[in-house]
Amino acid sequence: MSKDFSDNKSICAYPWMAACINPNGLVRPCCFWRSNGDSLTLYNSNLTNNPTHSPAWDKIREDMIAGIAVKSCSWCYKMDAANSYSGRTNSLKWLKPDDYTIFNDVKAAPLDYLEVTLSNLCNLACVGCFDGLSTKWSTENIKAGRPGAKLINNNYDWTKWDLSTLRKLKILGGEPFMEQDRFGDLLEHVDLAKLTLVIFTNGTVLPDERLKLLIEKSKKVEFYVSLDGLGSVNDWVRWPGKFNEVVDNMKIYQSWWSNYPNVELINSSVINIFNILTIDSYFDFMTATFPNWRQQFNWVDSPDWQDIKNLPEEVKSILINNYSSKTADNLRTFWKKDKDFYKVSSEYLKLSRNVDWEIIKNKTLYLAEERKLSIREMLPEFKNIMDNH
Ligand code: SF4
Repeated sequence: MSKDFSDNKSICAYPWMAACINPNGLVRPCCFWRSNGDSLTLYNSNLTNNPTHSPAWDKIREDMIAGIAVKSCSWCYKMDAANSYSGRTNSLKWLKPDDYTIFNDVKAAPLDYLEVTLSNLCNLACVGCFDGLSTKWSTENIKAGRPGAKLINNNYDWTKWDLSTLRKLKILGGEPFMEQDRFGDLLEHVDLAKLTLVIFTNGTVLPDERLKLLIEKSKKVEFYVSLDGLGSVNDWVRWPGKFNEVVDNMKIYQSWWSNYPNVELINSSVINIFNILTIDSYFDFMTATFPNWRQQFNWVDSPDWQDIKNLPEEVKSILINNYSSKTADNLRTFWKKDKDFYKVSSEYLKLSRNVDWEIIKNKTLYLAEERKLSIREMLPEFKNIMDNH
């Protein structure tokens, strides 16, 4: 018999049945985990054996059963507060109430869900990313005289882990299609017939024939392509990516997989201070050009200076007012009506600011100068706000 956990706002299934492997070898319960001075460190991460059975993980599960907030789960608590879908609520949905018996014990359950970042190899330096997840960011740091992490490769040896119970595998970046051989080797090691495969790509590199065939053999595929705005807005956020190139590749994915019932094509957008102002035109483009793609969102949490709550108060009020009469009904999302894009965005905008607007302006100008980009040309609406606030 499982207990009733409906009032427990810290319980999450991932510390019981999931693991997420970082490029540097850190093993966390999920990619939302913030490593806020908690007990999971590189020293107790173990890549030669699944470390989720260790006392450090038992403590997380013990706290969750007791309803104690876990510091490193702060991003999920913020998503819950904004009535968005969090990793936590998704984990409970994935588990289904019938399986809540795992919460009767602090011991780990068999590994059901694995998230893997093979390395930080990536050809983009997105504004919200850093060298730990992007070698392009490393190059930029080194060019500018800052320390750069270079290539980080955890050499994760999946043959040492028991993956026989795996139902879901998420491949994160870096850019996973820059690691085609290892990606393909990993897929050959798991039972694709029972696997939900989740891939996040920046859409600039296509899989080779071997990898494409392996992807298609999976029981279910959630294929996420990142695009964060229309034209130059995307190119600012996902520099030096090019909007048109990604759109061309999305058309190729569509030509490959639109008739595969097991493959779902999804566009993933991270909402931040740069793209929120022009998001309507982006939605118009997506509904007209890719009506069969689903749309998924994350609202940026880190770096916090790009969080939409840090826009000037007057701008936030105008947006909240505009959004009160809007819906994103035309978009194909995973979201229920009470979690409409504009409703959730308003909740994030209502949060208190924690970064001074002058600091945000300076960081934006610094980035533009280093990359030799024109804010006026690429982000005219944002420039207007910078000029007036
Ligand atoms: S609550 Fe969120 S951050 Fe914490 S383990 Fe679950 S999904 Fe990860």
